[in-house]
Amino acid sequence: MIGSGRFSARLVVPGDGPPVEHGVVAVDDGIITEVFAGPDTAATPLGNVILLPGLVNAHTHLEFSTSTTPLPAENGMAAWIGDVVSARHHHADRTDPIRRGLDELVAAGTSAAGEIATSDWPASQLTDTDPTCVVFREIIGLRSDRRGDGLATAQDFLAADSTPQCLRGLSPHAPYSVHPDLFIDLVRLAASHDVPLATHLAESPDELELLDSGEGPMRERLQQLGAWENSAIPHGTRPLDYLRPLSELSHPLVIHGNLLEEEELAWLGQHRHVAVVFCPRTHSHFGHPPHPWPRLLDAGTPVALGTDGRVSNPDLSLWNELQFLARRTHARPAEELLAMATSTAATALGLERRLGTLRPGKEATSLGVTLPPGSPMTLMAILKSGRPAGVLRQGNWYPA
Ligand SMILES: [Zn+2]
Repeated sequence: MIGSGRFSARLVVPGDGPPVEHGVVAVDDGIITEVFAGPDTAATPLGNVILLPGLVNAHTHLEFSTSTTPLPAENGMAAWIGDVVSARHHHADRTDPIRRGLDELVAAGTSAAGEIATSDWPASQLTDTDPTCVVFREIIGLRSDRRGDGLATAQDFLAADSTPQCLRGLSPHAPYSVHPDLFIDLVRLAASHDVPLATHLAESPDELELLDSGEGPMRERLQQLGAWENSAIPHGTRPLDYLRPLSELSHPLVIHGNLLEEEELAWLGQHRHVAVVFCPRTHSHFGHPPHPWPRLLDAGTPVALGTDGRVSNPDLSLWNELQFLARRTHARPAEELLAMATSTAATALGLERRLGTLRPGKEATSLGVTLPPGSPMTLMAILKSGRPAGVLRQGNWYPA
């Protein structure tokens, strides 16, 4: 149901300009027509609510949404991957976890999500109140004999129609699980269709060891899974080798990038359409060294936030993710943190014309939060202590 009307709030934070006290958001047919300072007695009063741009979760895996707790990660990425593969086999029916994940995204006030899909995705089951989904078909295949199948799966996925609510992209999973030649095939395919591409990169020491020497726990894990091929990855390979091909894409997303090194940070600073997705609570769950997101931002690299999936995070709330980051971050402006969860994430997913800020012409999609009594009305206080109060979605207000 697409709505029209005017909504007045205690504060409207458009995300690309100064906050508007007693602001009014005017909506026609689900699209914002105006944001102005009230009072407007004819508007629907939302009370003490602060309206923020709708949250965009740049990275998640909904297929794990029935997991109740994250899988232990203290033994490293290779061990964790083994547990994830077992968890996947216990959930042969993908539909239920994805539906549950979508419900959780809705409940968390999510406007859009970058979702990684390992099978056909139930696009036709999306309802009006579900978030806009950019669905990245995950492709895996390190062995050269998997190259043809991997490419064919990607081609079939992109051949199906996108809809405004379900757009399609590709995700060559990671350097340790995709043959370098297949990786290039998939980048070229994404470029020819002009769709976003997301790849996990520079995520763990196990990955870097495998790329450099072909040894270590990741190799053992891949051998166990029957997925290893000795000559697939040349020794001395680095994440930079996977970054370079991304420059030809319009919307490339580097997922995690926890262990990006100097040369890679510099390369990203020179290719500012390549976004890095930081998943703060997943990062913390693995106990990785500090993420380079402040340096990336300083170099002009777009950094978006994601929750990742429930096998590495307790929930799919991007608000919780943003709050987790805001409460641990000092000396960064609140506007920068908000952008990571809204406008930057929207741009990374190719949704910048529709979402990310509260501006005329964009979709009337917004998260409403309230502050505890006595809190200062600053954006940092809002991010640190605000509580979701409802969502404006396509011009309709849904209280939390
Ligand atoms: Zn992921």
